[in-house]
Amino acid sequence: MISLKIKEVLEATRGQKSNGRLVIGDLEASLSSIVIDSRQAGPDTMFIAIIGENTDGHKYIKSAYDLGCRTFMVSQELDILDQLDGSSIVCVDNTELAMGQLAKYYKNKFDIPVVGITGSVGKTTTRDMVYAVVSNKFRTLKNEKNLNNQFGVPLTIFNLDSSYECAVIEMGMSGFGEIDYLADIVRPDIAVISNIGTSHIEHLGSQEGIFKAKMEISDYFSEDSCLIVNGDDEYLSKLRAEKDAISYSLCSFGKDWKNTIVLKSIENLDNKTNFVVKLEDKEEEFSIPTVGEHNVYNAMSAILVGLRLGMNIDEIRQGLMNFVATGDRQNIINTGKYLVINDVYNASPDSMIASLKVLALNKDRRKVAILGDCLEMGDYEEEGHRRVGLQSVRRSDVIITQGKAARFIGIEAQEHGFDLSNIYHFDTKKELIEDLKNILEDQDAILVKASRGMAFEDIVNYLKEAK
Ligand code: ATP
Ligand code: MG
Repeated sequence: MISLKIKEVLEATRGQKSNGRLVIGDLEASLSSIVIDSRQAGPDTMFIAIIGENTDGHKYIKSAYDLGCRTFMVSQELDILDQLDGSSIVCVDNTELAMGQLAKYYKNKFDIPVVGITGSVGKTTTRDMVYAVVSNKFRTLKNEKNLNNQFGVPLTIFNLDSSYECAVIEMGMSGFGEIDYLADIVRPDIAVISNIGTSHIEHLGSQEGIFKAKMEISDYFSEDSCLIVNGDDEYLSKLRAEKDAISYSLCSFGKDWKNTIVLKSIENLDNKTNFVVKLEDKEEEFSIPTVGEHNVYNAMSAILVGLRLGMNIDEIRQGLMNFVATGDRQNIINTGKYLVINDVYNASPDSMIASLKVLALNKDRRKVAILGDCLEMGDYEEEGHRRVGLQSVRRSDVIITQGKAARFIGIEAQEHGFDLSNIYHFDTKKELIEDLKNILEDQDAILVKASRGMAFEDIVNYLKEAK
């Protein structure tokens, strides 16, 4: 972060929604990092007291102060002012919104291309793929971990400094207006939508609703902006027909010949994938150090971003080879006893199906799918899990489930002829783990996947240790 003065914090949050005003302190006081977790506070940081679902940041102002922090943004009167000697305190009506305004103000200091990434599944992977490409030529900022919401995106933006030449920002959402809010802060020049699935359908009513919400990423586009979409996606592909009516540029990727970049063939190897695409009538070969067709789609979007930023094919090709996935996303572990596809970070029916396709690549092994609930599915819960069940029939030999909703995976598979003696369901994770030794065989390929709340890393840990 480059240093900001308190007077700039006031300028960014004055009027409008936040009504920023100085409670005590010095307009010339400066800060060079912004935190919302008091444990990360220190000299030169500004601590923003956020009122969250579980806790109120105002309770931690004194602990931030004790760590040396002297600039604060609050939304309440403080009865501990006498204990905050030497501090500068800005009071706003709503610290969450003011933080967004400040991030927008801060972003405006930098004239660099920004790539925004959204979609139902594959945002982080696409972001990391785009980062691999773009950072091969430009010094690039990206969100850490999964910091993609109304707090994570501003915190990411505050990490910009004058050394960066590009930023790749993942934007998540669970309802209408959230991507619009983030796009207003980030103002992406290039935006990628990976697909329209069913995650968060509970809040958005339908896939059409999800499509509309994701399209908010283009709300602040100019004529020079570019939207890059999965052109094989049922909803996003419709945009191609509207191309002439759209004021910005539209590019798409996929197998359909009408896409800007067309997937011609894929060669699946042990831990990498080679693929050939057609680009402006020329065939080009690329390679990524990961497996799964969905990752080829993620890579194609990254190729389009690279081209849009003026990179040549060799630079893009080299960049893709540097791809590194974040966290427990499709992390393949050979324990000697088993081949474990650890995908416990999170799950939705769409990403489960993508992972089942990866499991199916292990043709020489018995394929075991250990699947748990996909959460937040609302009325779509049964249908979503049944879709997974249908897809697991051809792609796995053994199905093991845990959770109320995941039971439908096995039920659907059985209805489609899957051998009942190879379907196991457990009410608790503990029972599941205890029984694994009776079910698994040496050299099985095992996919482990469920929503974050199911904490299936316990199963992966068991598999890693199993002798
Ligand atoms: P979140 O909403 O938690 O931020 P995300 O959209 O960032 O999720 P990732 O973390 O990139 O998604 O990927 C989650 C899982 O989805 C991966 O481990 C993989 O199984 C699957 N996945 C990744 N890319 C795609 C894709 N393009 N299509 C379908 N599934 C995908
Ligand atoms: Mg993510």
